[in-house]
Amino acid sequence: MGIPKPTTNNQQPTTPGSKRILVTGGAGFIGSHLCDKLITEGHEVLCLDNFYTGRRANILHLLDNPSFELIRHDVIESLRLEVDEIYNLACPASPVHYQHNPVATTKTSIVGALNMLGLAKRLKIKILQASTSEVYGDPAVHPQPETYWGNVNPIGPRSCYDEGKRCAETLFFDYHRQHKLKIKVARIFNTYGPRMSSNDGRVVSNFIVQSLCGEDITVYGDGSQTRSFCYVDDTVKGLISLMNSQDDFTGPVNIGNPDEFTVLQLAQKVIELTGSKSHIIHKPLPQDDPRQRKPVIDLAKEQLEWQPTIPLAEGLKKTVEYFSRQFAVDR
Ligand code: NAD
Ligand code: UDP
Repeated sequence: MGIPKPTTNNQQPTTPGSKRILVTGGAGFIGSHLCDKLITEGHEVLCLDNFYTGRRANILHLLDNPSFELIRHDVIESLRLEVDEIYNLACPASPVHYQHNPVATTKTSIVGALNMLGLAKRLKIKILQASTSEVYGDPAVHPQPETYWGNVNPIGPRSCYDEGKRCAETLFFDYHRQHKLKIKVARIFNTYGPRMSSNDGRVVSNFIVQSLCGEDITVYGDGSQTRSFCYVDDTVKGLISLMNSQDDFTGPVNIGNPDEFTVLQLAQKVIELTGSKSHIIHKPLPQDDPRQRKPVIDLAKEQLEWQPTIPLAEGLKKTVEYFSRQFAVDR
């Protein structure tokens, strides 16, 4: 009997067409769904996460999968790995979490991007950046096309995230121009679905958890501010389509659902769906909270042949089911 070959980071995946893909932030909400999808497509996934907002529970089902490897690491520190592609998602995304340690948020966005770009440059591989609709700030143009440069407060409580992500985009495009690196930049709009943290303060998880627990539903301000909510499966498909798009297509490209709702409408939909007896209460609107947000997705339709397919009512139903199961387990 021959001696079995040791498995190392440098071993090539065996399935034809299969790639070894690094997903930073892979234990987070969107990242864990992305890991699932890439593995389903036959790839090997290296999930890198420092568990700042990510959870083991999100990837528990993958830990025994031979196509999955977990690396506990902070993107602020550089590292050497052998991979074929990088999806850079590492960064807290909810306002409560990214404002908790704003300096760390800026470092993660900027130093993390530099480290991942350095890795991609050394390996001469494609890298995708999870950017955000927050680069448009509190938009004065509505809806928002990718050509809009935004309206961002550089010194407010949201700036660590907004400016961090804007600077990361700058770095991506400078690596592209200066080092001919193949880059892909996705501007992700509000995404929701199973595996959102119940305590991360985002509006969809807050409203569902409050409804299921019979607590007051906290609408900030008068609730007339708008958001356009994209179900996570649609977002993940958009990210993968972008990664696989023509080499000369860099983005930035909006990935989001253009169906726009006021926050008050969202609260009413969640109450309706859960049959909750919760009451809506109003709390102060946080500083610099964007008044309106809706993506123009013509570029994604044209370049990626992608558009969202899951309407809010359907996605909310799946998300409510997820949180109901979570609470049943926790009890
Ligand atoms: P999330 O907080 O659930 O996931 C982020 C993941 O990154 C977590 O697992 C966290 O532990 C990890 N992380 C944070 N800092 C890190 C560091 N320094 N080193 C290594 N890992 C680190 O958030 P999400 O909603 O899944 O967002 C994922 C990405 O998508 C983020 O980059 C976010 O900015 C972007 N995005 C998300 C949305 C959305 O609506 N969910 C919208 C726009 C952009
Ligand atoms: N929001 C709210 N109640 C909550 C949480 C959020 O009214 O319990 C509002 C928030 O002020 C914002 C919108 O919902 O106008 C979306 O907030 P979220 O934190 O989910 O994401 P954002 O798009 O602001 O990053």
